[in-house]
Amino acid sequence: MMPAPPMPSTPPEPRSSYLTGLIGAGIGPSLSPALHEREADRHGLRLLYRTIDIDELGVGPEAVGQLLRAARALGFDGLNITHPCKQLVIEHLDEVEPAAAALGAVNTVVLRDGRTIGHNTDATGFARSFARGLPGVAIRHVVQLGAGGAGAAVAHALLTLGVDRLSLADTDPVRATALSDALNSRFGAGRASAVAMERLAARLADADGLVHATPTGMAGHPGLPLPAGLLRPGLWVAEVVYRPLDTELLRLAREIGCPTLDGGAMAVFQAADAFRLFTGREPHTERMLADLADLVGAPAAQRTA
Ligand code: NAD
Repeated sequence: MMPAPPMPSTPPEPRSSYLTGLIGAGIGPSLSPALHEREADRHGLRLLYRTIDIDELGVGPEAVGQLLRAARALGFDGLNITHPCKQLVIEHLDEVEPAAAALGAVNTVVLRDGRTIGHNTDATGFARSFARGLPGVAIRHVVQLGAGGAGAAVAHALLTLGVDRLSLADTDPVRATALSDALNSRFGAGRASAVAMERLAARLADADGLVHATPTGMAGHPGLPLPAGLLRPGLWVAEVVYRPLDTELLRLAREIGCPTLDGGAMAVFQAADAFRLFTGREPHTERMLADLADLVGAPAAQRTA
């Protein structure tokens, strides 16, 4: 039985308007502005969500501290933080929620009463998505491909959800080992282990499920992240890639008879958890899921707010 995913804490006092945004590199096509602003409209809230793109500003990732101070001075209520600033932002925060501190990455900052508080809703978002999309699946042993930014959040979420044993494979073995060490120091020795790509077949043969957390399958990175023959009926497959929603891996997995979960719900639930932290309002996640499907299916020019 999986425990319920942890709820983000400390709702703010209701306000009449909210100023929010996203700091990161190359974030022009982000769906976050539309997801947050559409949801705010449904609540009758005035909420602006701006992209603050360090590439467009011509500054490096280390400018995140300066941008955070500027946002505080300008009265921002909340910020999302994305690649390549999720780790760098931590030293500039007044407080970091314990789970985000343990995983060493912050994707959501609440600015309140002159203080900045960091959270990680990628992890809570994946946990909610998994509990909703693959309820009751076996989680004794899970293999995860990819130990980068998304992989770290997903791996922490999986062990929080009660996965007994997590095998981590990455084409960069240093990343798999570093993530495995971090997980074992948080959750207990032996819960996670790094596995060489050559040993993937053996680990998958013993696994209940596969989580895919590499960019393979994204628009611009087509293909499968592992040999097709390693999938088998009954193995569940969870994807983090969400553009497109239906990746080559998911199509193959469905054909074989694997229960599947796409990356769209993680994207929505991380936004929903951030929305709740920013506004104190309970987001309507089913409507946000419909928005995501609409936005992902829309022509590129309509995807950004
Ligand atoms: P990243 O570059 O930080 O990490 C990717 C990792 O995958 C790297 O460590 C790389 O070495 C490894 N890798 C690449 N190809 C591999 C393969 N075939 N086998 C094993 N390992 C491989 O990237 P990221 O920020 O973690 O993003 C990964 C994907 O997750 C992207 O497609 C991103 O859009 C998606 N993502 C989705 C959500 C969501 O809400 N659904 C959130 C964040 C990221």
